Amino acid sequence: FEPWNDPGQRPYIAFENISKLFGDFVAVKDLTLHVFQKEFFALLGGSGCGKSTLLRMLAGFENPTNGQILLDGQDLSGVPPYKRPVNMMFQSYALFPHMSVEKNIAFGLKQDGMAKSEIEDRVNNMLKLVKLDQFGKRKPHQLSGGQRQRVALARSIAKRPKVLLLDEPLGALDKKLREETQFELMDLQQELGLTFVVVTHDQEEAMTMADRIAVMDLGRIVQIGTPAETYEAPNSEFVASFIGDINLFRGEVTGANGSVIDIETTDGMHIRSDSTVAMKPGQKASFAIRPEKLRVSRTRPESGINAVSGEVWDIGYLGDMTVFHIKLKNEEIVKASVLNAVRTVEDPIGYDEEIWVCFNADGGVVLSG
Ligand code: ATP
Repeated sequence: FEPWNDPGQRPYIAFENISKLFGDFVAVKDLTLHVFQKEFFALLGGSGCGKSTLLRMLAGFENPTNGQILLDGQDLSGVPPYKRPVNMMFQSYALFPHMSVEKNIAFGLKQDGMAKSEIEDRVNNMLKLVKLDQFGKRKPHQLSGGQRQRVALARSIAKRPKVLLLDEPLGALDKKLREETQFELMDLQQELGLTFVVVTHDQEEAMTMADRIAVMDLGRIVQIGTPAETYEAPNSEFVASFIGDINLFRGEVTGANGSVIDIETTDGMHIRSDSTVAMKPGQKASFAIRPEKLRVSRTRPESGINAVSGEVWDIGYLGDMTVFHIKLKNEEIVKASVLNAVRTVEDPIGYDEEIWVCFNADGGVVLSG
């Protein structure tokens, strides 16, 4: 079930024309965004693009300069943070160092005046959920980074918020643990049926965990979609290069026949592809294609289109795949990755060879400008 594809579905979190100014600096610019219930939503963008500010406004730590934020239909303006059914988990975890794991998790519940026995039950339940049943009596400094992260998570969901906000939740973990924890977070979100909004600058993390991703730049959302949509059909060079590796063949439109566009690149390659954007001859355009969509070959394809020759400049063996860096006549480097499972091992393509790089027209997207 994909609530964002259902036109009858009401948004659960709605940012309506939100702007945030710090002095005269515009951190968030007239932004509208709808997140659906039980969605795992990611805000992805580079440093300073406004993603944390957006999260902080939802939590109530900042007020929007303009616009409205609604949660389940309720206008949140004027509602203090502690009265919002929203909790936030920070990168630093902010655990109390002198308190045991149990006490850290119980802290918010105690403040809310929950009965002692109920707190005990809830804490035990949370410890089980994050697989720390044996660690309740320890202090944070007696735990590993990953375990501390799980305590912070347990604490932030102990009050059973409807929405959990995670600001770079896995930033402090090493690569392997981060990957494991990504799947744990997804399982947990499913199990609890909560709505998660995560802020990250790590595209792999966003792709792995999120149902949908909003890519942000300069206080705006530049594209929104499922991980596959943003990866396979980026709407701009910015999104194409922010998410994953991309080859950009820049040139000029030489023909446009309905949706079929011809582009002549600066390197003299003739590209013919379908385009969802209307183009006119003479217009500048680029063809964006992922490394895994390029093929390398010693023979020139018969049609002569969607192919360019170059010299093998670098070969990187990554275990699961091999990445070729191919230098074109115009000195640009093109990256082609080939799965080792399908790569011919007899007489493999080597350094300095003159080879052909070719692709299917539907392997990439045409972008304007
Ligand atoms: P990062 O990944 O580096 O945390 P971000 O996308 O989360 O980046 P924000 O923290 O939302 O970025 O900040 C957006 C912009 O607003 C930045 O340029 C930042 O310097 C500015 N900003 C944030 N908070 C304040 C503040 N309290 N006063 C002035 N400027 C601020």
